[in-house]
Amino acid sequence: MCEFCGRVSCTLTKEQVLERGNIIEDNASGIMQTIEDEDNFDGFQGNTYSFAGVPCYDSLSALIPDEDEEDPHKYMRYVFDEDEGTGGGWMQEDIDNPLGFQTEQEFLASKERRLNL
Ligand SMILES: [Zn+2]
Repeated sequence: MCEFCGRVSCTLTKEQVLERGNIIEDNASGIMQTIEDEDNFDGFQGNTYSFAGVPCYDSLSALIPDEDEEDPHKYMRYVFDEDEGTGGGWMQEDIDNPLGFQTEQEFLASKERRLNL
């Protein structure tokens, strides 16, 4: 049994989660913001994304394993406020089955393949 989520069938480890790295939902549809080091949004660097079927008042980064937590289900993500055009801060999310999500790298690679066709 997983001591973190309490499910008998869960064998998730922090090592698996860290090895896979950033993950992202299957309905991610495109990059909204590319946030560079010098933009200084609470130390966040990377991309935020829009999601199909979700009104885009905010765009969201990929889910980043929370290295400060022992719990492999804990992820952090950065929120960008598209209305205001500014960084909106961090939020923590519990992900039941992170191994079922595509990785951010897989998503970006699939986007690239489509653009190159
Ligand atoms: Zn678990």
